[in-house]
Amino acid sequence: MTHSFDALILGGGAAGLMCAIEAGKRGRRVAVLERADKLGKKILISGGGRCNFTNIYCTPENFLSANPHFAKSALARYTPGDFIALVEKYRIPYHEKTLGQLFCDHSARDILAMLEQECRLAGVRVFLNTKIEQVTRVDAFGLRAANAEFCAPVLVVATGGLSIPKMGATPFGYDLAGRFKIHMQAPRPGLVPLLLAHEDRSRYCDLAGVSAEVVASCRGQQFHERMLLTHRGLSGPAILQISSYWKEAGPVRIDLAPATDVTAVFRDPKVARTSATLRSELRKILPRRLADRWVELHAPGAWTSPALVELEKQIHEWTISPAGTEGFEKAEVTAGGVDTDELSAKTMESRTVPGLFFIGEVVDVTGHLGGFNFQWAWASGAAAGRSL
Ligand SMILES: Cc1cc2nc3c(=O)[nH]c(=O)nc-3n(C[C@H](O)[C@H](O)[C@H](O)COP(=O)(O)OP(=O)(O)OC[C@H]3O[C@@H](n4cnc5c(N)ncnc54)[C@H](O)[C@@H]3O)c2cc1C
Repeated sequence: MTHSFDALILGGGAAGLMCAIEAGKRGRRVAVLERADKLGKKILISGGGRCNFTNIYCTPENFLSANPHFAKSALARYTPGDFIALVEKYRIPYHEKTLGQLFCDHSARDILAMLEQECRLAGVRVFLNTKIEQVTRVDAFGLRAANAEFCAPVLVVATGGLSIPKMGATPFGYDLAGRFKIHMQAPRPGLVPLLLAHEDRSRYCDLAGVSAEVVASCRGQQFHERMLLTHRGLSGPAILQISSYWKEAGPVRIDLAPATDVTAVFRDPKVARTSATLRSELRKILPRRLADRWVELHAPGAWTSPALVELEKQIHEWTISPAGTEGFEKAEVTAGGVDTDELSAKTMESRTVPGLFFIGEVVDVTGHLGGFNFQWAWASGAAAGRSL
């Protein structure tokens, strides 16, 4: 038996559900096809189980894309305020954690339950355990799963990226784009820990667990947040943020003592120019073990004034050449994806295949850490849903 709808939405994550709600509210007969046994699995694990569902300071500058202008229209038409209004309508308690990041007080389950209820109210049909095996397009789109067939004049692809394959991430959306000759920006892990090269690993990785507030920079971007040493390299918000900008073999610079003149003390002629003095100065800024290790590795041979200038520079410009990233297994998002030049910025519809839409993480729009990726999922989902 073939189920016939006005629109089929492939993927019941954040973007797919928002699209379904908006289209359903407009009276469209909509079906969400989800391969997993429940909707919104990523919503449930997001934000450590509390879902950082948006960011009140969201601007287009918080997103990476080959075309930095693409996301502007959708973001302007569905704002953090719009999503907050929905959250408040459902009386879901939430709080700002830091830097405008809004989290549920209780659980991410509140957000998913809200979206599921909105789907019910909008008359959206949900088909779980529905793994699409084949997509055809003659007059309409025809989709075949093991146990059912579907057809509709509109197909919205909301299948997400490649991050966390053990949660069921697949390249389905990218493959589908390829089949319709839609160009892609190569997918790569984003918001992901960086691996230190062998030599740096042996110097620092026994300090795993130590964290410090730093400024990490790469390719003209910088983030002032915390950095965490891990068993294989670097993580923490500052590193996750900068990882989205990092390209193979390029350097990442880390200022270990932002806005601090660490060697100023040595300008006092009464102060002894020794490792002990440097250690005690660095311990005021960095955790003790990292401060001590830095002195061990970087104390100058001679404590001349030029050597102190160089030392100050090294502290503010610790330059690493990461050996790679922890990959899609540990990446919070997938950067790259369906090329935005292929899509209408207003509706997310393909410019070459009428009726085919791409929304959410499968598109080459990637948010910074802090609720921006969900905001893109809501905004792109709403943009498509309101145009169906
Ligand atoms: C651990 C973790 C924590 C995160 N925390 C946050 C956070 O707090 N704040 C934030 O803004 N972002 C967070 N993110 C990122 C955010 O979860 C994603 O950007 C967002 O979920 C993308 O939404 P989406 O709907 O595009 O894709 P997804 O949420 O990935 O949904 C895609 C859906 O499509 C389904 N699917 C895939 N292939 C098929 C197929 N062939 N047939 C049918 N269904 C299919 C999948 O099962 C899935 O349900 C986090 C990510 C991770 C991994």
